[in-house]
Parts: sequence; structure tokens; C-alpha cells
Amino acid sequence: MSHHETIETAATKDIVGIYQSGSTHMVGDGFPVRNLFPSNDLDREVSPFLMLDYAGPQYFTPTDHPRGVGEHPHRGFETVTIVYEGVVAHRDSAGNSGVIGPGDVQWMTAASGIVHEELHEKEWAKNGGTLHAIQLWVNLPRASKMTAPGYQTILDADISAIALDGGGMVRVIAGSFQGHKGPARTFTPVELYDVRLKAGNRTSFAFPEGHNTSFFVLQGRASVNGSQAAGDAELIVCTRNGSQVTVDAQEDSRFLVMAGEPIEEPIARYGPFVMNTRAELMQAAQDYQAGKMGHLS
Ligand code: MN
Repeated sequence: MSHHETIETAATKDIVGIYQSGSTHMVGDGFPVRNLFPSNDLDREVSPFLMLDYAGPQYFTPTDHPRGVGEHPHRGFETVTIVYEGVVAHRDSAGNSGVIGPGDVQWMTAASGIVHEELHEKEWAKNGGTLHAIQLWVNLPRASKMTAPGYQTILDADISAIALDGGGMVRVIAGSFQGHKGPARTFTPVELYDVRLKAGNRTSFAFPEGHNTSFFVLQGRASVNGSQAAGDAELIVCTRNGSQVTVDAQEDSRFLVMAGEPIEEPIARYGPFVMNTRAELMQAAQDYQAGKMGHLS
């Protein structure tokens, strides 16, 4: 090796854009959401992620009749629910059920088809309180869309929390960060981190080359690789190319990092079904109507 040896520096990701919610709506009567995608037409830039609904934070008055969304189907992807405040209960036709609270994550694989309900937990609803959560939809590759449904309850205590120098932490839900692996089992490579960063601090991430990468700021103010700062409920989308990302917090910030290997296949959507073709969507609707995705008992 001569004295001309070069130091390999990983390329820095550029910014595609900063986005606000593209639509606002109620899911059932319990989840007032702001949608970041698909309403912003970002399919290619955020794949394998399909949808991000940001629920609340919103206060709900006490009730004996838990609010939420009743029996409905899904096919062709996974739903990932991350709870920040409040308590959510789930029950599905595969016989799985679970209750998740602050810091917990529910990773449900709908795959070939499932029917479920998502409600405010009964006792929590009786007292009332603030609900604050995110639901992501994660696509499945064609080869896995018709596999058996699954369900992972990931509790706060199961998630490694790595303290950052100077204040803040990274909770690794999926993928790995600085050698710490997240508990979620995924079909394709995904990194999903819940991050808090104190005002005036900076932290860096290195993603596998070719992974789509975006940052959803729940609260605070933060910039990525010198971008404009993004505030509450804003999404920073990075380019697929490059690996390195440095985040600066201008205020105490909480953000969700979503990265993963893109799934380069056609997306056909119809409500709760996401397949590759229209014919498969029609089949999904027929199968649901025929009861092939089961029922809640
Ligand atoms: Mn659902």
C-alpha cells in the first residue's frame, strides 16, 4: 500500500423532500389520524413501507363502550402499531389477541388474510386518556403475500434502548443499530427505530446501501444531513442512494426512523388489501366475502 491510500468514506444520503400529512381522517371512532403516505404519493421512495397513519395525540373522554375500529380484513402485508400514549387491544381471526401500551409494538402479519378489531383497551377507555400512536403498513414481497398470518407482541422491555452521548436514546424495534438487534421478525430487511434526541444534540446512522430511509418527526424540531428543519408531524424522506445520515435536534425531539430494502414489484391497493394485481384484489374481496379470512369468535 502506497502513501496514496484512500480512506473509504460512506456516501451521505440526500433529501428527497419534507412532507406534511396529505390527509386527515377518523379510523373507526377511535383513531383520528394524519396520513403521511400514501397520501403524499411516495410509494417508490418509502417502499417497503406502504402507509403511515399518525394517530393523536388526542384526549378521549371516559366511556364504557371502547372506541376504535371493529371487525375488518387485511391481506398482502403487515400492520405495525406503535403506542406512545394510551392502551390498544387487538383480537383476530387467527386466534391471537394482545394489549399494547406506551412503548409497546404490535407486529401483525396479515399475509393470506386475517380479520381483526383494534379498540381502545376496556379499562383504559373507562378512565379516558390521551391516545398517541402510529400505524405503519409494511409490504410483503409477492412470494410471501399468501403465507400464513402471524402476530408478534413486542413489549417495551423487549426493545433494546441504546443511550446516546449527550442525551437521547435509540430504541431498536427492527433491524440493528450499533450492533444492537431489534426483536421484530421481518420478511425483508427493515430498520425501525424509535428515537429521542435532546435539543442541541446530534446522532448518526449508517444504513445498508440501497435502503429507502425516512424520518417522521412526532414532536420537536430536527434536520437531516443539513436539511431544512422538520417539525411536529413532518416526514423527511432521504434518497435511496447513500448510507450515512446525521440528525441534528434543534429542540427536544422524538422521531421514528423507517428504512428498508425496497420491494420492486407492482402495488395494487383496494382498501384493506394490498396485492400486486387487480385480479388478486378481486380475489381478496371475494375470499373475504366468502368467509375465507375467518371471523372473530
Ligand atoms: Mn386493521
